[in-house]
Amino acid sequence: MSSPNLTPAEHARNILERDRAHVWHPYSSFLAPSPTYPVASANGVRLTLTDGRTLIDGMSSWWSVLHGYNHPTLNQALLDQSQAMSHVMFGGLTHEPAVTLSQKLVQLSPEGLNKVFLSDSGSVSVEVAMKMALQYWHSQGRPEKNRFLALKNGYHGDTFGAMSVCDPVTGMHHLFAQNITQQYFAERPQSRFSAAFDPKDLDSIRHLLATKTDIAAVILEPVVQGAGGMWMYSPTYVREVRVLCDQYDVLLIADEIATGLGRTGKLFACEHANISPDIMCLGKTLTGGYMTLAATLCNDKVSDGICQGDAGVFMHGPTFMGNPLACAVANASIDLLLASDWQSNIARIDQQLKQGLEPCRELEHVVDVRVLGAIGVVELDYAPAMAEIQPALVDEGIWVRPFGKLVYIMPPYVATNQDLHALTGGIFRVVGAL
Ligand code: PMP
Repeated sequence: MSSPNLTPAEHARNILERDRAHVWHPYSSFLAPSPTYPVASANGVRLTLTDGRTLIDGMSSWWSVLHGYNHPTLNQALLDQSQAMSHVMFGGLTHEPAVTLSQKLVQLSPEGLNKVFLSDSGSVSVEVAMKMALQYWHSQGRPEKNRFLALKNGYHGDTFGAMSVCDPVTGMHHLFAQNITQQYFAERPQSRFSAAFDPKDLDSIRHLLATKTDIAAVILEPVVQGAGGMWMYSPTYVREVRVLCDQYDVLLIADEIATGLGRTGKLFACEHANISPDIMCLGKTLTGGYMTLAATLCNDKVSDGICQGDAGVFMHGPTFMGNPLACAVANASIDLLLASDWQSNIARIDQQLKQGLEPCRELEHVVDVRVLGAIGVVELDYAPAMAEIQPALVDEGIWVRPFGKLVYIMPPYVATNQDLHALTGGIFRVVGAL
């Protein structure tokens, strides 16, 4: 254990030593640990490391923090709810925070999404979406419709069902291929977000839909493929896929876990395409990055089908379903967002990221720069070792965690122009020195 008379630097080293002995981190190795920094506190857009350094956060804690850390309104919502009830089982009991949140989500979401299943992580919300689709087709007397069609370079989570719809080749899950259901994968769309749409982009998915009769649902991340490459593609593709799904009698699942609640400039990325999916997954930003909470919404067609089926009920029920603390914070966070001029704010961030990252194009290893809303990406021609790039970014006073060939930021919406300037300037200098 740490002793109170350690210096901040010694305290940080002490935490790290114990961490390296015992603690798994995401995608980590005990034999070759990647640079890891003990953090003591977080406030606004700043992380304070245990050794006393502060970093401007460009990651929003994996794209979830909207209003900054340690926000008084969210703190108060959490405190108030904890005085009333931290958790109760959701079977047979219900409560105001969950009902209010569900109603809010239904009101805000694309039209027709009328029913809400509250769970505790993005991956689980994808499992729930997949189970909804399977139960729906079962209820329709079409149990053979039990495969999913996903996009190459897609990412939907780390649980087994979610893994099965992650890109099987470039994804992180090839090790488990023997244990996961084989799904169908269409080529990812090549047309960029704001470029003209090339109808050839649809050939692959149309061919699969036309030739495979066992597809229950298409699952995609509308407009931005996140962890599979930070690729922003044409909303027309999403619109056309909706048409194809209807034509071939297949459900459409929109995974808005990364894009939901404003990140792309619309409240939901589906709005760029002006479509409603049959099922939609939300997570990450739901509580403004405070707690673990996710939601799967579906339309009445899906919920009616499920409830009229053999089982008569939807077969899922996690212990922490509808956690009141998380729901209360989600309500406060969504209210905060809606009370702000968030559209203009995201447009400001978009413009700042473009201005700050475009100069990276001239750097030796940069092959592309992409910005959409509060997402900025610099793609390199190689994947630098974490040990090479991470300490350099930290030395710049910024928290940016690259993956593979991508150096990207998704800052909290409260990041000021000065913060964004520090983030993009730091990236420019670090990438320039590679
Ligand atoms: N879907 C998408 C689009 C995601 O970006 C993520 C997380 N990166 C997930 C699903 C999985 O969410 P979680 O990590 O909360 O399980």
